[in-house]
Amino acid sequence: MVSFTIHGIGVSGGIAIGRAQLVSHATLEVAHYAIPAAKVRAEVARFEAAVNEVQKELEALHGSMSGEDVPGEFGAFLDVHWMILNDATLAEAPKKIIAEQRCNAEWALTQQMAVLVEQFDEIEDPYLRERRSDVVQVVERVLKRLMGRPGALPAASSEEQTILVAHDLSPADVIQFKSHRYGAFLTDLGGPTSHTAIVARGLNVPAVVATHNARAMIRDGEILVVDGDANVVIVNPDRAVLAVELERQKLKRLRLKPADTLDGWHVELHANIELPEDLEQVMEAGANGVGLFRSEFLFLNRPGLPSEDEQFEAYRSVAVGLEGRPLVIRTFDLGADKTKDGLGGLVRVAPNPPLGLRAVRFCLAEPRLFLTQLRAILRASHYGNVRILIPMLASAGEIDQALAMIAQAKESLREQGIPFDPNVPVGGMIEIPAAVLAIGAFLTRLDFLSIGTNDLIQYTLAVDRADEAVSHLYDPLHPAVLKLIGTAIQSAAKARVPIAVCGEMAGDLRLTRLLLGMGLTEFSMHPAHILAVKQRVLTSDVARIRPIVDRMRRTDDPVKVAALLDRLND
Ligand code: PEP
Ligand code: MG
Repeated sequence: MVSFTIHGIGVSGGIAIGRAQLVSHATLEVAHYAIPAAKVRAEVARFEAAVNEVQKELEALHGSMSGEDVPGEFGAFLDVHWMILNDATLAEAPKKIIAEQRCNAEWALTQQMAVLVEQFDEIEDPYLRERRSDVVQVVERVLKRLMGRPGALPAASSEEQTILVAHDLSPADVIQFKSHRYGAFLTDLGGPTSHTAIVARGLNVPAVVATHNARAMIRDGEILVVDGDANVVIVNPDRAVLAVELERQKLKRLRLKPADTLDGWHVELHANIELPEDLEQVMEAGANGVGLFRSEFLFLNRPGLPSEDEQFEAYRSVAVGLEGRPLVIRTFDLGADKTKDGLGGLVRVAPNPPLGLRAVRFCLAEPRLFLTQLRAILRASHYGNVRILIPMLASAGEIDQALAMIAQAKESLREQGIPFDPNVPVGGMIEIPAAVLAIGAFLTRLDFLSIGTNDLIQYTLAVDRADEAVSHLYDPLHPAVLKLIGTAIQSAAKARVPIAVCGEMAGDLRLTRLLLGMGLTEFSMHPAHILAVKQRVLTSDVARIRPIVDRMRRTDDPVKVAALLDRLND
């Protein structure tokens, strides 16, 4: 069977895998035949009977809607259909057409529908224009009655997930999903604001609409993957694609599950973001918060610098969007590989950029820029659960200077009467070996720590992380790296200072148990990794892992480290 992909508009998120079930489409199958004069009255009566039956059908559906799982808007949508059905333009006009043209009721009804649809197409307001599909759906329902095919959808298979493939579906069709338990649906027609789409979202059923001709391309019984997030339908996926999709579908179910290990350790899984737009992915992955907002990306790829207000808006939008979950904003880390031409030469081309004027060093050298950002972050703290994180700290002196700048930013806001959270927590990144070896200065001055393993590895092994020529030497499992990470986590735990890992190691499945065994309970990673890491956490037993990790931390032999890691991941 040929595998192919159909694109549409995902109007309701999630993934479903199942067999296609085609829904017949009465409007496309209407015959046109003449009615003898003597039978016109009977034909009109047949039309009236069909309208009456659909009326009762809608009323019965309305009456059966109770319970919390029915979306609130649904009653209103049915009322709209009931009103369209009872409007003279639909209930009366076709009777006149039957009498005048001596044609069958189905034909008369579709003729009248064409007139109405044309009128709707001329409406400017997109919401009202889309109500044309409600008219078509009501007509479709009456046609099915006239043609002797009542409106109920085919029964879903109880053994396999069924995916409905239709030219169009009405909200009344979609509500039947509740009792039939269809896995998903796709339609040729429809748009994001159609009532059908709104009901689908309310029922939490993945749906892709506006596929144009999916119904003509798909055959009954074919296997479909409907991905409402990616706006696609895969028809007859090959085994590899199916396996990947099944895994993704399985992982999605973990979204709301707390990440607890088998022996009851609760783990917080946070997301790393670069721009406010990333928030959607964060929420979709079910992250517990944002553990690292790399704010320097607001400064890159643009002319000039973002103003205080512009930064404030960006931080505030994420803080609000997280609905009380924590948002850790790292003050900008420019320099090294992330340079900014627009800084007007403020970041000079250093002879050795990673060891040069980067991150907090640059901020302290340019206090005006730093203060602007700190004020923007503090202002945003009034609107959510905001924390400040300072990158690349190496010494107590730098921490004190950064804290003094934060105090100064607070003071200036206070003077202007601008609200902010006076207790906003301030944390530091552990990215330089010196920070681990003299961690006491960090533990006494800061509210939390976050290990940036990307830089910690670079600086521990003296391997430029951006230089391909030495990338083979960049090794997260180097015994020295493991000792530094282990020490940092243990020291923070002893001092009761929260500590996270926010470098790439946090999102690497091979290393999840290693970090858990070191005592880490807070990970921050690209949102795409969160569900897979959660699954690993859920199947981990810290009591079994810990002695193996202790041995990994003690050895200086990389071969032993590799062997112990295999045991950990067995
Ligand atoms: C890190 O160094 O591990 C880190 C998270 O920061 P960045 O990758 O942005 O330098
Ligand atoms: Mg870093």
